Amino acid sequence: MASRKDRKRGFRELLAVRPGSTVDLATFDAGATFGRAKEDAETDLANVLARLADLQGRLWAEAKHPVLVVVQGIDAAGKDGTIRVIAGAFNPQGTPVTSFKVPSPVELAHDYLWRVHAHVPGKGEIGIFNRSHYEDVLVVRVHELAPEERWRKRYAHIRDFERMLTDEGVTIVKIFLAIDPDEQRERFQERVDDPAKRWKFSFGDLEERKRWGDYRKAFEEMLEETSTEYAPWYVVPANRNWLRNLAVGEILADTLDGLEPAYPPAAEGVEGTKVE
Ligand code: AMP
Ligand code: MG
Repeated sequence: MASRKDRKRGFRELLAVRPGSTVDLATFDAGATFGRAKEDAETDLANVLARLADLQGRLWAEAKHPVLVVVQGIDAAGKDGTIRVIAGAFNPQGTPVTSFKVPSPVELAHDYLWRVHAHVPGKGEIGIFNRSHYEDVLVVRVHELAPEERWRKRYAHIRDFERMLTDEGVTIVKIFLAIDPDEQRERFQERVDDPAKRWKFSFGDLEERKRWGDYRKAFEEMLEETSTEYAPWYVVPANRNWLRNLAVGEILADTLDGLEPAYPPAAEGVEGTKVE
């Protein structure tokens, strides 16, 4: 039961993975609502998107802080939908979205962070990663694309990489969208049944679904190993799109608020100038 206290605590506090804690996704309630009501969701989301729009406008004008948002989750967890809704609040010029697919031969010829580093946002930008360097401890682990002795060292590389980025001024927010296996089945079925969604369906997804347990283990360890004070993971219950959108929007808006982005001061003499 969600308490009144939950309602007040804010999603950042409720959903952050505390460094050093253990994560159990098998018992995680992906349908949780934390006392929020669906009837209020439309208004709540409109409010949070308005906050995001204002904050991004300031961040962009100030051109001081890069912000990196990493979105991970199993197939059909809602990565694309979340990004569509959240990025919809922003000026596209300041919001590069990068989707990381199966690495190309050129990418595979380099270390796994090579292709990622090039897309880290610059000052004033909010860069969104749809999948990320975390694939290199997820799909790579589950499919044994690299031996364990190789991928296991990557948790430390990733912590150090993200430490370097934050030391250099990047703000990092990592969102893990958690759905349960029933919800995934329904979403895959929907992809089969709805002609407008059929393009998204692949038989490969069904093969991946058989490895749910392996992915769960990989996600849990990723969250445990790489949630840090400087680059925290948030585990967002994502069975309900409305709650998911609200939670991600609020986490991001509260993070941006913390940067106190401000419009740069006008040049000397601008104030009061009459334009003829
Ligand atoms: P989608 O997000 O549906 O467009 O699919 C992208 C696919 O690329 C997924 O199946 C990912 O697992 C895969 N992918 C992303 N990064 C990597 C990587 N580093 N190694 C192998 N496969 C990857
Ligand atoms: Mg897919």
